[in-house]
Amino acid sequence: MDKEPIRLKGFGVSPGIAIGKAFLAEENHIPIPSHTLEGDDEIEQECAFLREAVERVEQDLERTKQSIVPEFKDHAHILDAYQLILRDPLFFDQTLETIRKERLNAMLALKRSIRRISELFAAMDDDYIRTRAADIRSIGERILRYLAGRKANTFDEIRERVVIVARDISPADAAQIQLERTLGFITETGGRTSHTAIIARALGIPAIVGAERASKIIRTGDLVIVDGASGRIIVHPTDDQIAFYYELQDALETYLKEITRKAHLPAITQDGHKIRVEANIELIEEVVAAKDHGAESIGLYRTEFSYLNRQTPPDEEELYQEYKELAELMAPAFVTVRTLDLGAEKLGTWMTPIDQENPALGLRGIRLCLQHREFFKTQLRAILRAGAVARNIRLMLPLITGTGELRQAKAVYEEAKEELRRRGIPFDEAMPLGIMIEVPSAVAVADVLAREVDFFSIGTNDLVQYTLGIDRVNPHVAHLYDPLHPAVIRLIRHVVATAHEAGIPVTICGEMAGEPLYVPLLLGLELDCLSMNPQAIPRVKNLVRRSTLEECRRFARTALALTTAADIRAALQEMVLRVFPEEFKFFDPQAVKPNHQNGDWGTRLSR
Ligand code: PEP
Ligand code: MG
Repeated sequence: MDKEPIRLKGFGVSPGIAIGKAFLAEENHIPIPSHTLEGDDEIEQECAFLREAVERVEQDLERTKQSIVPEFKDHAHILDAYQLILRDPLFFDQTLETIRKERLNAMLALKRSIRRISELFAAMDDDYIRTRAADIRSIGERILRYLAGRKANTFDEIRERVVIVARDISPADAAQIQLERTLGFITETGGRTSHTAIIARALGIPAIVGAERASKIIRTGDLVIVDGASGRIIVHPTDDQIAFYYELQDALETYLKEITRKAHLPAITQDGHKIRVEANIELIEEVVAAKDHGAESIGLYRTEFSYLNRQTPPDEEELYQEYKELAELMAPAFVTVRTLDLGAEKLGTWMTPIDQENPALGLRGIRLCLQHREFFKTQLRAILRAGAVARNIRLMLPLITGTGELRQAKAVYEEAKEELRRRGIPFDEAMPLGIMIEVPSAVAVADVLAREVDFFSIGTNDLVQYTLGIDRVNPHVAHLYDPLHPAVIRLIRHVVATAHEAGIPVTICGEMAGEPLYVPLLLGLELDCLSMNPQAIPRVKNLVRRSTLEECRRFARTALALTTAADIRAALQEMVLRVFPEEFKFFDPQAVKPNHQNGDWGTRLSR
C-alpha cells in the first residue's frame, strides 16, 4: 500500500522546487569494534592504521580547501582548525599512547580521545571553546570512517541525484557535498545565514532549514518534494501532488531563465524611470556572480574579510593589491569600498578582545577606526591608491552618527592623502566620499551631513536595529525586527527627501533592498539605487521593469499613512499579488516574514 503523504514545514531559504529521493546524512552510525591487542606487532599495526587514517583525512581536508567554492571561502579557516586538531598532541599522541599502554584497537582508542577532549571542552566557560567540541567530534568521525574502511564522508556514498536531509550540515561537510548530485537541502537546524542556506542560494539549489524532526521522519530513499520558497516539504507525495509540483517546477525554471536572460538590461519602469541596481559583495570572487546577475556596479564592498582569521592585520600593500584588483575587474563600473566595520560581532583574531556588554552599541565601525587612526589611515591610503588605477572607486564610511564624527574621519582621510602626496604616490584626488546612514541620529541631521558628502547609502540592517532597539543577532527578539515598521519607512523617506534637496543620490544597501516584496515600496520612496546580494538582482530588476513609478508613489503614500508594520505588509502583499501574479505564483509573499531579514547582513564574516 502507498504510504500516506506527510507534510513538514521549515523556512524556505533558497527558492526553487526539488522532487526526488531523500538521502539522510546520518551521524554517529559507525560501529566501533573492541578488542585487546595481543603482541607488539598488533599494537604497531593499529598505530600505523591510525597514522594512515589521519594522513588521509589531512589530504582530504587539503583537497577540500583547494576546491572550495568562492561562496565558501570565508569558512576555509574551519578547515585549518580541523587540520590543527588532527596533529594536536592531546588528540593524536594521546590516542597512540592509549593504543600502546591500554592495548586497545585504534578505533576504540580514538573514540575515547574524542569523548575525553569533547567533555573537557564542553565543560569550559568560554562559548567559543565549547563549540569547538563539535569540531573534535566531526574530525574524529572522519578518522573513524577511514578506520572502519568506509568512504571518507557520508556524501561520497551518494550515487544519484538526491535531496540531502540532515540535522545540520557542518561547513566542512558542506564543502564536500557533490553539488551536481544535489537536488535540494533540508536541515533541522540553521537559519537564513547558515552555511547551507548561503551555499544553496549562491548555487540556486532549493533549500529549507529549520524543518524540525525532518531527519527522524524522512528515510533514505523516500520520495520528497521541497518547495524552497514557501518552506513546504511533502514526504511520500501523491501522484497529483507530484504532477502539480512538476508543473510548478517547469514554470519556475522557464521564468528564472527568462529573467536571468534580461538581467543585463537596465531596470527602467513602465513610465520611464531608471533605478540603478548594484551588488553587495565581500569577496573578490563574487565579482563574477555580480556581473553574471546583472549588477551595474558594486554598491557595497565589505572590507572586513581580509582582516579576519589571520594572525596580523594586512598591510597597505596587500590591501592596495586587493582593492586594485577589484577596481580593475569592475572598471569602468564603479565600486563602493566601505571602510572597516569591525567590532560588534566581527573581530579579527589579532585584535585585543574588546570586553563590552553591548557590542552593537559599543566600539565598532568608524568609532573603532577613529580610536586607531594609524591603522585606519593604512586602509584609507590603500583605497586612495587603488582609486588611481581606473578612477572608479567611491569611498564609504560606516556607522556615522553625526557631523563631528564625520569631520574627524575626513581629517584622517586628508592626512592619508597628504602622506601619499609626500611620498609622491599617485592616488585619486577626486574620489567621491559617501556615508552609510544606519543610525537614527544620522537621519536626524541628514541635512547637515548631506552638505559634506557626495552620496548616502542607507544600511537598513543596522538602521532597523538601532531604530527599534532590537539587537539584530538576538534570537529572542528576532521576530520583532521588522524593516516595514512605520518608523523605518518614515526615516527612509526623510533621508531620501533631504538628500535630494541637497542634490546627492541615495542607495539602500541593507538586505531589505534585495527582497522582491519590498520593491514597490522602495521605488515609491524614490531611492536612486538598490544594492543587494547578486542572486537577488534578476528578480528585483524584473519587478522594477514591470512597475510604474506613479503607482509605486501612490502606494508609498498609502503605506506612510498606515500605522503598523502588519498593515503595511498586508498592503504590500495584496499589491504584489495583484500587480505581479506570475512572479508571486512561485514566491509566496506570505512567506516573507519580518525576521526573514535577520539575514545575510555580512554576518557571513562572523560565523
Ligand atoms: C547595513 O547595516 O544595512 C549594512 C549593509 O551593513 P552591514 O550589514 O555590513 O552592517
Ligand atoms: Mg551596517
